[in-house]
Amino acid sequence: MLDKHGRKINYLRVSVTDRCNLRCVYCMPKDGVIKKEHDSIMRYEEIFSVIKSASVLGIDKIRFTGGEPLILKDIDRLIYNTSKIDSIKDIAMTTNAILLEDKAVELKKAGLKRVNISLDSLKKDRFRNITRGGDIDKVFKGIDKALSLGIKPIKINTVMMRGINDDEIKDFMNLTKEYPISVRFIELMPIGEGSKLYKDSYISSEEVISKYSDLIPVKSNKSSTAQLYKFSKSKENVGFISPMSCKFCSNCNRVRLTAEGTLKPCLHSEKEVDLKKYLKDSESLLSKINENIYNKPLEHHMVEEKKSNSKKMMYQIGG
Ligand code: SAM
Ligand code: SF4
Repeated sequence: MLDKHGRKINYLRVSVTDRCNLRCVYCMPKDGVIKKEHDSIMRYEEIFSVIKSASVLGIDKIRFTGGEPLILKDIDRLIYNTSKIDSIKDIAMTTNAILLEDKAVELKKAGLKRVNISLDSLKKDRFRNITRGGDIDKVFKGIDKALSLGIKPIKINTVMMRGINDDEIKDFMNLTKEYPISVRFIELMPIGEGSKLYKDSYISSEEVISKYSDLIPVKSNKSSTAQLYKFSKSKENVGFISPMSCKFCSNCNRVRLTAEGTLKPCLHSEKEVDLKKYLKDSESLLSKINENIYNKPLEHHMVEEKKSNSKKMMYQIGG
């Protein structure tokens, strides 16, 4: 469907849990988060009701995220049932891949088409520090497994952070020459824990792109959030996602369902509607989703204000 600014909204990102098996420094507080009451987190059936209603309104692309989506016991069942909705054309996931090796076969069987893997260092000790305890070998095994099953394309998402991982940007780019893997560099955003690092560690995409004269621009889809490039001999492309320096609001095609069941028409707006209240009545649910998609804000103001106005954190929204 179209929102009131004429943008076609066809993409729903679903945060299936606000819990995570890692504690990335720019995302989760060191000691984790206070566990929400069981009832305040959406259950599998509730998430599915929202996906079904959204599909009636023209949502044809779903991305499961979190927190960490692979810690949800029923994630493969949710993917399978979503894949059975006729109008859904694409099902993807964003994951830290710690549990991917174990789950990849079931995920593929269930209908998962694509996976984005968040990885901010290729070095074992540094990865452990950034994620506060993660084991990079598990991520590498997850990537190998996904490649061997033909889950394609695999995209690696890397948040660029000055003084933390900026010396590895070239190594990440080189992955696209050796493997059928795309890499997306993401600008650090001043949201949640990211606000504490932002002043010292934010790097703009432009600064990085300007250092690599051998990057060749590649045309991307209108709704793509990434500026794409490749090297002459690379197998896949390198992308830059620039929510701060080059915001993509005018082409934004997405809305978000948080782990607590609120629909957020914009990642960085404080506006959200609690869909849990409407789950028992499918007409009201449809009408609330419709109203909120239609009224999606024109743009965020994170750049001017140097902060996100979102009341929810990245681990609750899913990025
Ligand atoms: N746990 C999964 C993962 O890490 O892929 C999915 C959820 S995570 C919140 C989704 C994405 O948000 C990750 O790629 C992560 O790097 C990104 N993210 C979290 N906080 C961020 C911040 N402050 N700035 C930029 N990206 C951020
Ligand atoms: Fe967990 Fe993903 Fe946040 Fe890291 S970025 S703490 S893996 S939700």
